[in-house]
Amino acid sequence: MHRDPPSARPQVTEYYKLSEKPPSLRKRRTLIFEPAILNLNSSPVDETHLNKQAGSRRRGSAALPGPPFDKTHLKKPAHSQRPPPPWREEIRSVLISRARLARRVHALARQIEKDFAGGDLVIVALLNGTVVFLADLLRGLSLPLRLDFIGVSSYRDGAGSGGLIFTKELRLDVSGRDVLLVDDILDTGRTLSRVLAKLRPLQPRRLKICVLLDKPARRLEKIAADYVGFTIPDEFVVGYGLDYGEKYRNLPFVGLLHPRIAQGG
Ligand code: 5GP
Ligand code: MG
Repeated sequence: MHRDPPSARPQVTEYYKLSEKPPSLRKRRTLIFEPAILNLNSSPVDETHLNKQAGSRRRGSAALPGPPFDKTHLKKPAHSQRPPPPWREEIRSVLISRARLARRVHALARQIEKDFAGGDLVIVALLNGTVVFLADLLRGLSLPLRLDFIGVSSYRDGAGSGGLIFTKELRLDVSGRDVLLVDDILDTGRTLSRVLAKLRPLQPRRLKICVLLDKPARRLEKIAADYVGFTIPDEFVVGYGLDYGEKYRNLPFVGLLHPRIAQGG
């Protein structure tokens, strides 16, 4: 993945200063996946385990050769995975932190800017899950564009992908124009397949897909996105626009629900 020079990330740097420790982020930057693939087997961190490890090493440190025990280092992953206090009751862990989202969305914007330079771009975003991602992406795009929305809703409330209904139709003319279709997550692929079937007959010059998250494990339709923020494992995620029963869209990170919430407990 292309990495921008630090000078091109003033906003992200600000995020680091406010909510996370800059040194830890500097280290974690080397852990960004190429392309950003998140592996749940390695990403959730059991804080208890880390703290125990820290305790035992500290107690036995007199007998251990080598450098003194680095407490800060062990605390870092736990810090990055634990939801902020207001969300700890409902969110099991942070899958993608706020800072990591900001860095990735910034990189996506740079790529999109490059690919669509000089064209007549219309961004078509799907409601409602894209709102937060889209707002950040749009602010990162320094090129002329138009914006329109298509409303798509699943019959079922909550986690399931049931039948689809269109709650808002496209209004802008996309014929002969470059279209970037933006969605929150590509899961089975049914939603985007239905939307593509609507857009293609309108004869856009180019039709590309951008999703924040890609969950390839559950794909049923033959469809791939051209721009993917993060490839994630088969887990139900919320936050940064993604909901569960219309809640959790306002989380500034992408997280995993506690099983008792997902089970309606
Ligand atoms: P599809 O299965 O058609 O690709 O995705 C359908 C829709 O289901 C997505 O646009 C998204 O709104 C929702 N969806 C799929 N996976 C998840 C998930 O892990 N979390 C949330 N909140 N919504 C999801
Ligand atoms: Mg959606």
